[in-house]
Amino acid sequence: MDSDGYVLVAGTFLILVSVASVGAVGYIFATARRRVREMKTRDYNWYKQQYPAAFKDGRPTCYSCGGKSVVVKNLMQRTFMREHLCVDCGTTLFYSSEASR
Ligand SMILES: [Zn+2]
Repeated sequence: MDSDGYVLVAGTFLILVSVASVGAVGYIFATARRRVREMKTRDYNWYKQQYPAAFKDGRPTCYSCGGKSVVVKNLMQRTFMREHLCVDCGTTLFYSSEASR
């Protein structure tokens, strides 16, 4: 292969890589946006409506295993969301916004 051939191959490769990375970044952003939207829907009030039986003495417990220990985990900083999940089985119960506190 002469040097023009290499340039052509390298150029094609670079174009493919750029197209792929733009696609991947777009996909990641779209997924993150969808996740944030989903998290904002699944908040404390949603959980209360969805699983009224999971509330004991006004405190949320796990709808899946009945566990009473709920931990709060900070999610990706850019989403500003917190995840509330069950210690016993790891099920995500609901989300809250960091800004709302
Ligand atoms: Zn559980």
